[in-house]
Amino acid sequence: MTQPSPDWNSSSPSNKLSSARVSATAKRGSESRSLSLQDSYICPVCRHGQISALTLMDAFACNFCRHIFTANLQNQTVQVVDSSQPLTWRWTGRNWQSTYRDDPSLTAVVWFASIVLVLLPASIVWLMAFLFPPLPGSVLSWFPSVWLGCTFGIHLLMVGWLLAEHYQLPIYIASRVRLREWLGRR
Ligand SMILES: [Zn+2]
Repeated sequence: MTQPSPDWNSSSPSNKLSSARVSATAKRGSESRSLSLQDSYICPVCRHGQISALTLMDAFACNFCRHIFTANLQNQTVQVVDSSQPLTWRWTGRNWQSTYRDDPSLTAVVWFASIVLVLLPASIVWLMAFLFPPLPGSVLSWFPSVWLGCTFGIHLLMVGWLLAEHYQLPIYIASRVRLREWLGRR
């Protein structure tokens, strides 16, 4: 097993080395290359940062979302270790391919909960407005439809968050990191 060179520990050469690696990565973007600890790759979680090897470990870390990945160089795969889901990706030579080893029953529960969460409250509100319609010409006759819209919209947002978290959508992860950074700066 190859290891990063010893000068990897000192800060300034490693910074130079990693920026050189990033530019080399950009140059060789179209070429096929194998997964190795000496190289850096686009992060499969946020699709924004670069993952590079941690010193003396068979692991990568992202410089943007800070996720840690264990590497399996024989299988050319990485697995995220500090996430709610142990997602794995295979390096194809150019890009990451998700080897989704997701628990199917969990996915079914998530989707079932999502559908119930969107449909049930909105249909209760709609049923109430249908059974007890506002008096014609009353001041608040607009209220049931606005309330129905709010109920549906807010539950849809909740479900969107749940699904983005479940599937670890890259755009959601990247915006979450940016939001955390922005809140940290204030
Ligand atoms: Zn990342």
